[in-house]
Amino acid sequence: MKYYVLFGPPGAGKGTQAGAMVERYNLCHLSTGELLRSEIAAGTPLGLQAKALIEGGNLVPDEVVEGMIESKFQSVKGVDGFLLDGFPRTLAQADALKDMLAKRGEKVTACVSIMIPDALIHERIAHRAALEGRADDAREEVVNNRIQTYHAKTEPLIAYYKAAGLYKEIDGVGTIEEVRARIYAAME
Ligand code: ADP
Repeated sequence: MKYYVLFGPPGAGKGTQAGAMVERYNLCHLSTGELLRSEIAAGTPLGLQAKALIEGGNLVPDEVVEGMIESKFQSVKGVDGFLLDGFPRTLAQADALKDMLAKRGEKVTACVSIMIPDALIHERIAHRAALEGRADDAREEVVNNRIQTYHAKTEPLIAYYKAAGLYKEIDGVGTIEEVRARIYAAME
């Protein structure tokens, strides 16, 4: 099984690129952001807990997303691997992922990282806010907090995956097709 970590700041285009990647390589797309948004929509206790955190631009607790990922690893069948989108987002989550996979005799295949500058993050999120109406895209201070959270808690994963020899960085500036071609080249 392949286990790809799709990495990048908010608005880098992870969700946009994920669809084509999962089709091409027969992967299951696991987006923790999407899983959390469907918990919120369903009004579950977990969704209620996550809503305030997400709408403030903060991360939900590590155990919550780790549990969601592990249960998908157990239940999803018939794929050649997983594309993890938005997970891990902290060093603790990266260690938890490593342990979860080790228990199954597996490991992360690669960390595919889509990089864009902060200025473009704002532009992309403003564009998406108009299209998708996500609550955490709408307010400038929430977007700023997400970017700060990214730099403080998530960016250290770059060094983590570099040290493990798994880090592949892709320039996320360009058209969707240009970025997609760079991703395929890095994966193959
Ligand atoms: P984006 O990549 O645009 O920030 P996501 O859809 O991946 O959006 O995530 C939306 C929100 O869901 C995050 O800002 C965070 O609050 C929460 N979230 C998603 N994944 C995680 C995670 N792995 N750990 C903690 N919180 C998460």
